[in-house]
Amino acid sequence: MTAKLTGTSALITGASSGIGAATARELAARGASVALVARRRDRLETLAADIENDGGTALAIEADITDRAQAQAAVEKTIERFGQLDILVNNAGLMLLGPVLGADPEDWTRMISVNLQGLLHTTHAALPHLLKAAEDSPRQVADIVNISSIAGRVAWGGYGVYNLTKFGVNGFTESLRQEVTRRHVRVGVLEPGGVDTELASHNTPEIQSGMTTPFYEQTEVLAPADIADGVAYMVTRPRHTSIAELWIMPTDQA
Ligand code: NDP
Repeated sequence: MTAKLTGTSALITGASSGIGAATARELAARGASVALVARRRDRLETLAADIENDGGTALAIEADITDRAQAQAAVEKTIERFGQLDILVNNAGLMLLGPVLGADPEDWTRMISVNLQGLLHTTHAALPHLLKAAEDSPRQVADIVNISSIAGRVAWGGYGVYNLTKFGVNGFTESLRQEVTRRHVRVGVLEPGGVDTELASHNTPEIQSGMTTPFYEQTEVLAPADIADGVAYMVTRPRHTSIAELWIMPTDQA
């Protein structure tokens, strides 16, 4: 595989499972030093060891990105270890489904905290370093990839607050793109359809049996590696090319 990211460093949130873990492996295989950020330290350390065994460079950083200080510290640890930050992948997310009527508002707070506030915290902390990399690094470009969802394009009953967060991610991404793109920080959104990960498992058994399990049983969904491939595509374009939006769907999902 072409090592197009040699000499760069990437921070991936939600790297302890699913799409984030696959993205970390993919970017590391292409030569990036990767900072792995999530709450489950054991998972991060196992992944970091795997990446290093494969010849890559990885740093496990335990952090809850809903806490602004922890998100900031994660970025600072990345800079301390790797000296620069070229790529931020805002991937950490939570999907708690169900009707608005009778919902536990605490579930909404948790989703808004991770999917929106967490993304804002890491972006705010990382942006000065990304702008610096776009000026000073040999690549002369830096990247933010925000993992949104098909749920950032289409709303469905029972997905209300998840839809709210992902529509919000899309709006914020495009606004930030316009703010910094001429300084060569590329900002893009990647919207996956169904991917085989732990995402749906955080719902109640009733929600899972009614809303998510039938979908996953009836649809040939994507693998996390399919999304990692999309992230790698976005961050390895020539300097003059910015992928503002990438919508990756299972062929089987209408
Ligand atoms: P997973 O549940 O496998 O991964 C979610 C990741 O987010 C975990 O690594 C988790 O780590 C991390 N995370 C959750 N809360 C926090 C927090 N407070 N601080 C830091 N990290 C946190 O699901 P996916 O891989 O599927 O999800 C990744 C992204 O992809 C999400 O944004 C999701 O919305 C999006 N997506 C997924 C789709 C799918 O079908 N799977 C479809 C469309 C979009 P830990 O628990 O260790 O903190």
